[in-house]
Amino acid sequence: MSIVTRFAPSPTGYLHIGGARTALYSWLHARQNRGRFVLRIEDTDRERSTDEAVAAILDAMAWLDLDHDDEIYYQTQRFGRYAEVIEQLLAEGKAYRCYSTAEEVEAMREAARARGEKPKYDGTWRPMPGKTLPEPPAGVDPVIRFATPLDGVTVIPDLVKGEITIANTELDDLIIARADGTPTYNFCVVVDDMDMGITHVIRGDDHVNNTPRQINIFKALVEGEVGDHGRLPYYAHVPMILGPDGKRLSKRHGAVGVMRYREQGFLPDALLNYLVRLGWAHGDQEIFTRGQMIEHFDIANVQGGASTFDPEKLLWVNQTHIKASAPADLVGELRWHLARFGVADTTDPRLAEIADVQKGRCKTMKEMAEQSLFLFQEVAEYEPKAVKKHIKTATPDILAEVRDTLAALDGWDREALAGAVRAVAEANALGMGKVAQPIRIALTGGPVSPSIDDTLVLLGREATLARLDRAAAAFRSLKAG
Ligand code: GLU
Repeated sequence: MSIVTRFAPSPTGYLHIGGARTALYSWLHARQNRGRFVLRIEDTDRERSTDEAVAAILDAMAWLDLDHDDEIYYQTQRFGRYAEVIEQLLAEGKAYRCYSTAEEVEAMREAARARGEKPKYDGTWRPMPGKTLPEPPAGVDPVIRFATPLDGVTVIPDLVKGEITIANTELDDLIIARADGTPTYNFCVVVDDMDMGITHVIRGDDHVNNTPRQINIFKALVEGEVGDHGRLPYYAHVPMILGPDGKRLSKRHGAVGVMRYREQGFLPDALLNYLVRLGWAHGDQEIFTRGQMIEHFDIANVQGGASTFDPEKLLWVNQTHIKASAPADLVGELRWHLARFGVADTTDPRLAEIADVQKGRCKTMKEMAEQSLFLFQEVAEYEPKAVKKHIKTATPDILAEVRDTLAALDGWDREALAGAVRAVAEANALGMGKVAQPIRIALTGGPVSPSIDDTLVLLGREATLARLDRAAAAFRSLKAG
């Protein structure tokens, strides 16, 4: 059996962390089995679906690089198909037209409640052997109801939660098409999962209640049992993610949209690594490459209980990924963040080198970009605190000496540059730090930057000499004033 999974978001907002994890689990399950991963936009709720939300979801999926197979399916483009299946169910007597008004249905539910039963439609319009149906009222458009089995149980052998059994008497005769002919959610999902050959439905456990309804509709359309050679899919309901306060993760907890994490400087692979571990473990391994996730992930090993989002751990995972990344793999995100800081030149050939120098020093890509801005922008201000601490009366002369020594060098390589700075320090009987800090402040405006030789190499000869000149003059007038 070839595995087919799907991610089926409703485009009513951004892709949030919980959705991203569901998408990841589905994607991993497909990829590790050399199966197919389908992306389906469930946009039948036209009032709540927006084009912006579709775009936001697709952007986030692209950024996470959870690539899908086939074209993207949109439920709104499949209304013809849903109508066809509804006709088929009507013809086979597995669905029926119901003319009860909303008030009548409410009265039936009320009556059931009064009898101490579950509020349900009472089956007035359901055809039964030997039953005479009422005459359809003129001028009323009926809804279509699915004829749910009247007895027996529906069993979900859930891959995550274990076996869940529901008595069919608990289930209503679900409306599958409204009076205006539009199909309803649970029905569309089943037609899609059937048509797309989905073998594994992996989704949030907020859908557990829908599953028995969907299984019954499925069984009305194909023969088989759940997981039966892919005719009916397996189901895996993934528990929700809680915020650090134990409540369901929501906007209250700060960023929940995936792209907010990009803005904060997380790497897509780090975010996925963090998410895969939320509810799944492989021994005590914490750090996974994409390849390792694909190799080791096991949907049957996902835990049934909720998991708690831990921002500190996410940051640690991100830092670990940044450190372990090949510099070339960081260039894309570095460039993106630099652009957000206003650095327009995105083709700078130094980016890989910058990433190489900075990757051991930053927890996020945003931080990396921020710490590298001095390479792209003139120093706007010398940080007053740093100036107070490190700039002495003799500093302008030292900087001038450093400038002349560097200017006299033939090459501009790390060794020569470090040697030159060291020579100035020794000639003035100063420790390296006493020379390096003023140079840093002169070149970057502040006391924090990569090692002095890395800083000089990245900044280049021309900018270095100009900034040393400018700083020497500025500090001279400062000290004179
Ligand atoms: N469209 C549903 C949602 O966004 C998912 C339905 C499913 O996965 O079956 O919650």
